[in-house]
Amino acid sequence: MKLAMLSGGVGGARLARGMAALADVDLTVIVNVGDDDHFYGLAVSPDIDTVIYTMVGREGPHGWGLKDDMFAVMNALDALPIDTTFRVGDGDLATNLFRTDRLAAGWSLTWITTALASAYGVAGTILPATDDPLRTQVKIAEGSWVDFQEYFVVRRHADEVEDVRFKGAGYCRPAPGVIEAIESAEALIIGPSNPVLSIWPILAIPAIAEAVAAKPMVMGISPLISGSALKGPAHRVLSSLGFGASTHGVASAYGGLLTDLVIDSADAADASKVSVPRIHVTDTRMPDLVASTRLAQAVVDLVTSRPTSWGRI
Ligand code: GDP
Ligand code: CA
Repeated sequence: MKLAMLSGGVGGARLARGMAALADVDLTVIVNVGDDDHFYGLAVSPDIDTVIYTMVGREGPHGWGLKDDMFAVMNALDALPIDTTFRVGDGDLATNLFRTDRLAAGWSLTWITTALASAYGVAGTILPATDDPLRTQVKIAEGSWVDFQEYFVVRRHADEVEDVRFKGAGYCRPAPGVIEAIESAEALIIGPSNPVLSIWPILAIPAIAEAVAAKPMVMGISPLISGSALKGPAHRVLSSLGFGASTHGVASAYGGLLTDLVIDSADAADASKVSVPRIHVTDTRMPDLVASTRLAQAVVDLVTSRPTSWGRI
């Protein structure tokens, strides 16, 4: 079965690793690039790298970077007069050196991502949402806009988010293969990523939003459990932007785009309040590959059965 999935970093990546373990699924993951930035002269694409590393079981303990990585370069940088809040392990540095070098040589982010995914042995296709420049910016106080990484890493997402914008998105073309993957998929899945900060930047690309809206089945997986993000500010951002820190808020943030929403058993009481045609309730926690595979299989079963009434899985 062909599936296409929109993803940020950790949440979407965990579902993608489960999909990759299913023999009959041909998955294309379309990844947010609004977090991309430059540190130490390197072009970093944190969400793409998290998806690659997680899909092959090599993600770091906090969801970013590589497992068992060393930090000799960072430790040396720490002694120099430079802000080293954004950490890059030595193995992860190779990924970023490769990307920076190849971008300078004229390769597209799509080619680079394909080469990295292939080197890491990823089963499935990983595509950046776009090869064009798109930058998420966050309004943290009246008149004060900061780049995503300044908000997220440097300021540790402590500020209340008043607004978001996606610089350049209106001019971005979808990366090669993105529209084809969406159109040919049995269903479009929106991974359990931060709706505002990870998925909105993908949907801010007009041609992608159009292709997604045309799909008969758009299934979101809630990133909230008991109304809270497992990690990160998703619930706080949904709340400060007026959607509410709940599965209802997740559905509202997608503004009528979803035909299906999978919510966690801990939020089962929300099911009757959420205005999405079909709500499905199951355990959405994916601490390991077994849990990821189970949820991925549940999603595939729902797509296969195309339920016509409210159901529970
Ligand atoms: P980032 O780009 O790395 O910040 O990650 P994402 O936006 O892709 O994912 C962050 C979201 O993933 C958070 O809101 C988490 O609640 C959610 N998340 C992480 N792990 C899981 C999980 O195992 N199950 C579910 N349902 N959500 C998860
Ligand atoms: Ca991210």
